Amino acid sequence: MSVRLSILGSGSAFSGCGFNASSVLDERVMVDVGAPPHVLLPRLGLRIQDIELVLLTHFHMDHIGMLPLLLGALAHADEPPEPGRLAIAGPVGTRELVRRLTVAGFGGSTQRRVEEMVAPRYVVLQDGSDVEIGGSRVRSHAVVHSTCPSLAYSVTRAGLRVGFTGDTTLCAGLRRLAGEVDVLVCECSGEDGPVSGGHLWRDEVAALVREHPQVRFVLNHLSGRVSVPGALIAHDLLTLELTA
Ligand SMILES: [Zn+2]
Repeated sequence: MSVRLSILGSGSAFSGCGFNASSVLDERVMVDVGAPPHVLLPRLGLRIQDIELVLLTHFHMDHIGMLPLLLGALAHADEPPEPGRLAIAGPVGTRELVRRLTVAGFGGSTQRRVEEMVAPRYVVLQDGSDVEIGGSRVRSHAVVHSTCPSLAYSVTRAGLRVGFTGDTTLCAGLRRLAGEVDVLVCECSGEDGPVSGGHLWRDEVAALVREHPQVRFVLNHLSGRVSVPGALIAHDLLTLELTA
């Protein structure tokens, strides 16, 4: 039994290297919504209606900016999902932020339609959370980034543990995550040296790869076509079939 991992967006916030951060596991779980899912999922033969869980790592726009578009697209879909099917999970404050973004971007009428047609359920996650949401086991680790709270996740499906770092420095939470996963979608914002804003750069990621030879690394949140021995470099719409 395999797990399908798709990288919708592989670029960092401002690099233009690719769409912003968003990944999909098994057509069901989306981690961050920095890329437009209603545009990109159909290019992979997937449907937005099949997403049952959205995990948000933190509140920077390159990770959440397209979530109101996903909700609006679901609310206006010819076949909307069953109300309450979609769960949105993230740090404390997620529900209020999503509401504000939707109202600011598209007005109260769209927000009301989202509440009526999609009725997303919200789950607050924090460091140490270990919960079952919509058929996936999700563990949360606090990581150090320029905004707080920031979480990294491991998601277990079909016996395979897939980690997602979000944005992070080389911190204790990241190392805990790397120690418990089979595959790690890891940010690598800097090519040639340390970058500001609480990120990883190539040499730090290379050290992490060496420390965890049992982990398969997929690098995203890129500013350029970096090369790290032992790691796969993502591109937009990269899809991998992973087995435990
Ligand atoms: Zn980012």
